[in-house]
Amino acid sequence: MTAIVLDGKALAAEMQADLAVEAAEFIQNNGVFPCLAAVLVGENPASEVYVRNKRQACERAGIESQLHRLGADVSQADLLALVHKLNKAPEVHGILVQLPLPNGLDESRVLCAINPLKDVDAFHPENVGRIVQGKPRFLPCTPHGIQQLLIRRSIPTAGRHVVIVGRSDIVGKPLANMLVQRNPEADATVTVCHSRTPNLAELTRLADILIVAIGRPRFITAEMVKPGAVVIDVGINRTEKGLAGDVDFEGVREVAGMITPVPGGIGPLTITMLLENTLKAARLQQAA
Ligand code: NAP
Repeated sequence: MTAIVLDGKALAAEMQADLAVEAAEFIQNNGVFPCLAAVLVGENPASEVYVRNKRQACERAGIESQLHRLGADVSQADLLALVHKLNKAPEVHGILVQLPLPNGLDESRVLCAINPLKDVDAFHPENVGRIVQGKPRFLPCTPHGIQQLLIRRSIPTAGRHVVIVGRSDIVGKPLANMLVQRNPEADATVTVCHSRTPNLAELTRLADILIVAIGRPRFITAEMVKPGAVVIDVGINRTEKGLAGDVDFEGVREVAGMITPVPGGIGPLTITMLLENTLKAARLQQAA
């Protein structure tokens, strides 16, 4: 069997075209331009690429964006002062602090300082708590992109066993919370694995839907996958041979029923959900 390749890039393009229409309607009805402020600290090459891609996607969708650059030696106080300034700026609807921050800066304090109504990454504890309780304001972009891919490609999760490898606050944990909700678009039985999980392959082989976010190139091999499973590869690893996912794509595609590629899988969907959250933030602030 050769798996169907789930084309995240094509789906993202469709969704971004719809968002552009929604953004234009919002601007026409309110005379307000939705705006995302990105904060980039230091000179991490991967972060530079991510922020550039996010800003280009904003531009394509008719969403404004600002870039606030700070040196790697910025003090915690000055970074927090910028976040407070953006919190108060009426023309800014969404704030994104690109992670990771350079050593010496306290990520958690910075993320907690963002106004929850402008928290388009959904990392603020208030927004995380709302997700856990099934009353989300914003959904975090990567898990939301994965969920949208499953919904829009008619891959049901209800009653199915989803195994997530990776328990980060950005991907694994929020995704598990989202997919376990009592809701027909979730209703999954979810297992979360991590680096302390013994016999990982025994668990991954149980998955109807296997979602991997660990940051280890080609770690998941064909023997770790149940025949016919849906395999979602979140990993983005820079290797000597170029970008690689966390899944051994060539081997696993011979076993899986469906698989996402890297690049062109979850990455473009993540950016799309950031645009959606920025538009949602503008709507929320307009209604406030
Ligand atoms: P992270 O914060 O580094 O967390 C990695 C997780 O993987 C941890 O929970 C870790 O376990 C687990 N892990 C590491 N090695 C493992 C192993 N050998 N077996 C089982 N579990 C293992 O990573 P992240 O921020 O979630 O990112 C993960 C990957 O996704 C990276 O490649 C990143 O670039 C990519 N990513 C892509 C997107 C996108 O838009 N496509 C978005 C976000 C992240 P412990 O908790 O026990 O340490």
